[in-house]
Amino acid sequence: MDKRIPVRTCIGCNGSGPKKDLLRLVRQIDGSVAVDTSGCMNGRGAYICRNMTCFEAAVRRKALNRTFGRMFTAEETDALRNGFEQAVRSVE
Ligand SMILES: [Zn+2]
Repeated sequence: MDKRIPVRTCIGCNGSGPKKDLLRLVRQIDGSVAVDTSGCMNGRGAYICRNMTCFEAAVRRKALNRTFGRMFTAEETDALRNGFEQAVRSVE
């Protein structure tokens, strides 16, 4: 196993893969959660594969609530979904 490749676990499917194949969500200082497109934002983070299927799985399993320790409203989930979708598309 090549230790130079960081591996992360997806909170949607529980599968793991190279860090570059997953998107990072990070909790910001104000408590909101954003997609970390730069990959180096500070804060508590979670990883999801670069596809909407895993994002929806994470929402369905309430993995976001568990990871970030609070409830997400439908509006917050929608905003996060939009950000995630844009990030997914930006690499295609
Ligand atoms: Zn996944």
